[in-house]
Amino acid sequence: MKWSAEAEAAINAVPFFVRKKVRKKVEAHAQSRGKKEVDIEDVTSLKKKFLSKGGMENEIQGYDISTCFGGEGCSNSANSCAELLVGIQSIMDEAEILTFLKKSVPGGLKFHHEFRVSLSDCPNACSRPQIVDIGIIGAVRPVAGTKECTRCMACVDACPDKAICLETKEHPLIDQDLCLLCGKCITACPTGTIEKSEQGFRVLLGGRLGRHPRLALEVPGIQSQQKVLAIVENCLTFYKTHSKNGNRFSKILTSLDQVLP
Ligand code: SF4
Ligand code: SF4
Ligand code: SF4
Repeated sequence: MKWSAEAEAAINAVPFFVRKKVRKKVEAHAQSRGKKEVDIEDVTSLKKKFLSKGGMENEIQGYDISTCFGGEGCSNSANSCAELLVGIQSIMDEAEILTFLKKSVPGGLKFHHEFRVSLSDCPNACSRPQIVDIGIIGAVRPVAGTKECTRCMACVDACPDKAICLETKEHPLIDQDLCLLCGKCITACPTGTIEKSEQGFRVLLGGRLGRHPRLALEVPGIQSQQKVLAIVENCLTFYKTHSKNGNRFSKILTSLDQVLP
């Protein structure tokens, strides 16, 4: 939906942690009034309602899942999180986090109490999975196969992380410490010499922003969809068992061993 310049400036002044939600609400509000473009009046009326006493609490769902726009056909996608999203959403619903939060948080609920999940289809991580409770990144591992390499250098040029070396061997050497599992070299290789050896997801746990920010801890390796869902379930069980008075997941998670199956 189109936004007027004035409306765009006004939405950008809304605190970032509620901006996305307010934006969606404003668009729905404008659409319900038969409008094709959001104007300043739509923003101010919704902003007032959303940030007023009690207004925010009514909007809290207990958890928040954000995604990148890889599903809309982004060419960088290493692995689609679309199916995983459905599974995670169903686990979240079954966990009844809102009911849990209402019982355990003293005073009114705020957005920062929500359990946050973020999924990105590639390591560019547009939905910022490193700073939420559970972050998922689509991943694909390259391997040099047996097909002849023409030494065209396309893979070297395509790799944003300088993880591929062709200087000492006929076949490319892929540095697994530098590789971020984006799959660009696989797509770029015209001979099929670089192949896909494994596809799945990277899992990051316990990240947060705020006064004491922390980047999430990463589970080593690439996980299958089934394994990711098992980890998500464990995280929620751990969270509901140990979180008191609205303590964030990231505050109580000190080691990955606490939640890995
Ligand atoms: S995270 Fe990757 S796939 Fe998703 S929108 Fe960003 S660049 Fe595209
Ligand atoms: S998967 Fe991505 S980061 Fe890894 S070697 Fe290929 S292009 Fe480089
Ligand atoms: S892109 Fe493929 S053929 Fe070209 S140098 Fe790399 S591995 Fe060899």
